[in-house]
Amino acid sequence: MPQRFECFALICLPLVLACPLVTCADEYLNGIEWKKPRIVTPGQQGSAPSDAVVLFDGSDLSGWNNGERWKVEDGVMVVGKGDVTSKESFGDCQLHIEWSSPVPAKGKGQGRGNSGVFLMNTYEIQVLDSYENETYFDGQAGAIYKQTPPQVNAMRPPGEWNVYDIFWTAPRFNEDGSLKSPAYITAIHNGVLILNHFELKGDTPYNRPPAYRKHADRGPIRLQDHGNPTRFRNIWVREIKRAEGKQVREPFLRDGKGNEKPLPKS
Ligand code: MG
Repeated sequence: MPQRFECFALICLPLVLACPLVTCADEYLNGIEWKKPRIVTPGQQGSAPSDAVVLFDGSDLSGWNNGERWKVEDGVMVVGKGDVTSKESFGDCQLHIEWSSPVPAKGKGQGRGNSGVFLMNTYEIQVLDSYENETYFDGQAGAIYKQTPPQVNAMRPPGEWNVYDIFWTAPRFNEDGSLKSPAYITAIHNGVLILNHFELKGDTPYNRPPAYRKHADRGPIRLQDHGNPTRFRNIWVREIKRAEGKQVREPFLRDGKGNEKPLPKS
């Protein structure tokens, strides 16, 4: 009995006393009139949500320049001759793309299952068979080529499907060509975070340091032909748009009776 009372006194009593204070507290309102968020019907198991631009759904390569030189086999696209670029262009976007390294695995290092996903035709996140295949770390799968390795190696073995979910913030440029704000990338590989708001230093060439050069606000997605028959499927893109709202008044407080008052001066 004494123990039960002790429990009541220590745990329950403070809660009972605190509750009226919580319910009576003023509510903070930010004074912003938000636009109602659009309804998007999500896809099933990685398939495209209702507002996505589908770049490849297993049927044909009509959404790609140079697509006639790649193959579609059993609903997947296979790297052919030359890079392909999407006919549609994107700025800030969410990109979902699935890829699978060739079987049997051939070659080593950069020569094994090499391809790449270039955002805005310019900035490469590496596609490589990095399953038990070492290379320089800022050139393995999930690297921003020559800028950073992925945080971890989340590769599946050759022949299995890898999934990249990429969140891209495009760089902005001033009128005079100088950089206004850099590009940022967040990427998830097979459900594992590999790049977290990484700030790009510029483009991703092999033979010189990265650099920014002014380009259009939007650019195509490019998939690389590096001589290996990497396969791709289920590719879709969503434009990223911020929630919209208008500051219609200063932030304020409202009590339980509906009376409004300004925030206390700090
Ligand atoms: Mg590559």
